[in-house]
Amino acid sequence: MGCIFCDIIEKKRAAKIIYKDELVIAFEDINPRAPVHVLVVPKKHIPTSLDIKEEDNVLIGHLFQVANRIAKDKGIAGRGFRLATNCNSEAGQTIFHMHLHLLGGRIMHWPPG
Ligand code: 5GP
Ligand code: ZN
Repeated sequence: MGCIFCDIIEKKRAAKIIYKDELVIAFEDINPRAPVHVLVVPKKHIPTSLDIKEEDNVLIGHLFQVANRIAKDKGIAGRGFRLATNCNSEAGQTIFHMHLHLLGGRIMHWPPG
């Protein structure tokens, strides 16, 4: 089955990529819900956060490090930002390639709803 994020990683689909390294890629969300809305995505195809394995611990730690770096680069780290990952349908997951939403640049409401 095709995966939109794997297609972006493999350069088969365009995206506004703002960061990449050997483990992680980050690009602008196509439908931004905040002034900053970046998707931070492991290059490894992990369908949901439930599928994170022990062997992925370094990868997932790195994913958060990259998200923090982007928040700092975008100038929202001190103001505040949200990292969110939706798992399965009731949480609103639509792309089954696990990712972090980095959201900020406005007041974030709680709970998200
Ligand atoms: P989820 O709903 O799985 O938590 O998040 C998927 C996110 O991917 C959504 O915020 C959606 O706007 C974004 N998205 C879906 N298709 C594309 C695409 O082709 N390119 C980019 N850049 N973002 C996408
Ligand atoms: Zn994928």
